[in-house]
Amino acid sequence: ATERTALFLFFGGTGDLAYRKLYPSLFNLYRKGNLRTHFAVVGTSRQAMDHEKFRAAVKKSLADSGNRVESKEANDFISHFYYQAHDVTDTAHYAVVKDLLDKLDKKYKLQGNRIFYLSMAPQFFGTIAQDLKTQGLMSSNKDAFNRLVIEKPFGRDYDSAKQLNDALSKSFDENQIFRIDHYLGKEMIQNIEALRFGNTLVESLWNNRYIDNIQVTLSEKLGVEERASYYDNSGALRDMVQNHIMQIVSLLAMEQPVAFTDTDIRAEKVKALRSLRVYNVADAATNFVRGQYGSINDQPDYRHEDNVPTDSTTETFVAGKLLFDNYRWSGTPFYVRTGKMLADKFTRVDVVFKRPLVDIFAFPQSQSTPLAANVLTIFVEPHAGFSLQLNAKTNDTGFQTEPIKLDYLVDAEKSKETPEPYERLLHDVMKGDGTNFSSWPEVSYAWKFVDQIRRVWDLQEPNFPNYTPHSMGPAAAEELIQRDHREWIYRL
Ligand code: NAD
Repeated sequence: ATERTALFLFFGGTGDLAYRKLYPSLFNLYRKGNLRTHFAVVGTSRQAMDHEKFRAAVKKSLADSGNRVESKEANDFISHFYYQAHDVTDTAHYAVVKDLLDKLDKKYKLQGNRIFYLSMAPQFFGTIAQDLKTQGLMSSNKDAFNRLVIEKPFGRDYDSAKQLNDALSKSFDENQIFRIDHYLGKEMIQNIEALRFGNTLVESLWNNRYIDNIQVTLSEKLGVEERASYYDNSGALRDMVQNHIMQIVSLLAMEQPVAFTDTDIRAEKVKALRSLRVYNVADAATNFVRGQYGSINDQPDYRHEDNVPTDSTTETFVAGKLLFDNYRWSGTPFYVRTGKMLADKFTRVDVVFKRPLVDIFAFPQSQSTPLAANVLTIFVEPHAGFSLQLNAKTNDTGFQTEPIKLDYLVDAEKSKETPEPYERLLHDVMKGDGTNFSSWPEVSYAWKFVDQIRRVWDLQEPNFPNYTPHSMGPAAAEELIQRDHREWIYRL
């Protein structure tokens, strides 16, 4: 591995995300040699704490994620961590952080390379970015990099996202901003590009002549849990569709990039999103459906979860149809769905091919069942793999066909070695590779699409709750696809 030189400054450095994901991911990068001697990590948050107490908390976070921490390796790593109490809303207060950064820069010979990671409530993103610049925390060394990493959510509609982006742009250029969408850090999401552009067999059929429809399902088994106060303000459309689903869909829909670089890939994703049909009121109402989970046994319905108002109209489920008005996809819909309290926890993509134009096996007295569609499934999680459903002859003297499956599942040993999304994404930030982050044009097209759905929904009081826990959502999600004489490939 190539050793990288950087100073990491984490805002929200004592938060859940930092302890649960970010520090363990940095440790993995350290163990693999991507970080060695020339790095330092500064955590900040409002609470008072000394370096030693912070290091103890970091050690615990490594242990909690399954690392052996009574080792020289772990102790050496942790010795690079520093803490500074800091209130992000107090501009004058940034000076103390600046002093610490400058000191660490010298001590570890960091050459001015800085990564600012905003892992806290989004209302602070704009202020922090501005103060980083005005208070001199960004390195002025012209050979060094300053990079800003932003957690989700990026706005709650197009207007607020634009406002946030305008605020960030006052301090950072687009190529210095890394907007996290952790789905882009998942092995099998990255594999979409390998599958498509590495295989003639796949890419030559990847269009509306051969593909009937594509289905993307992000299914969660749990209810809202402890994120209720955030979630109730957001809902499934903003929390899952605008970001993760739109990103997955754009990777599935884009044209082949000129080269495998962030600039070329982003350009193609943006082009795809530009041809996504933004619905008018009537089409938004027919092409998107929403749901909220009811109660089962002694489990409360969504409206009786802690911190959820009893009259909440927030959707915990969305299903919809997306249409691209371009040469490749015209006439081939993308169906998407996501929700909480569904039958199982998984993410998958089902690519449903057209049936042969003529079924020569279906002659009059034939016993054969009609030919099934070929389906290519990408299993994203919990198990990674592919499956291809083909038609083959049954093993007997007659001539009947039956669907068979070619399966490739990544084995458990290999899965354990698969880097966590945050490890990959932090590595990408150190390299300055923006491939697996959302660019501003992508975010803005996605919001413009989603805003239209939201606008229509806000006009009508929904009839909630409307689905049973551990199902695959409301009846409306079935009707949505059956209306087009199709069905969900994953069904109960
Ligand atoms: P958290 O509430 O656990 O942590 C927030 C941190 O910000 C704490 O360290 C707190 O002390 C600090 N803070 C709050 N106000 C401050 C102020 N005025 N000045 C300085 N520090 C202040 O939040 P989290 O769960 O770690 O989430 C962080 C970000 O990551 C959010 O944007 C969230 O949406 C996003 N995110 C979190 C998760 C997750 O699994 N936790 C997943 C995806 C995205």
